[in-house]
Amino acid sequence: LKQELLELAQRLRDKIDSKSRALKTKEEELRKQLNDVERERVFFEEKIIRFSEYNADSELCPICWINEGASFKFNPINGNDQVDRFKCSCCGEILEVKF
Ligand SMILES: [Zn+2]
Repeated sequence: LKQELLELAQRLRDKIDSKSRALKTKEEELRKQLNDVERERVFFEEKIIRFSEYNADSELCPICWINEGASFKFNPINGNDQVDRFKCSCCGEILEVKF
């Protein structure tokens, strides 16, 4: 009986080892995902800070400023008799200003 008990215990030990390794792998993956999410969240918090710093008097493109912290102006492009049109020299965003 002793031998059978030992073999049963060993089989259980093997299952436990296998499960433990699988959980360790999963834990490492989740830790990596958590780091990625945290890094991305900080990236977005930086955008929120730049949003609060944005000043329209600068006439800078808010998209380039908020997303990248980059300073680009809008240049006038072809408008019509109802709107002036401006295009960001970097991201290409177009603004229409009615007059
Ligand atoms: Zn832009």
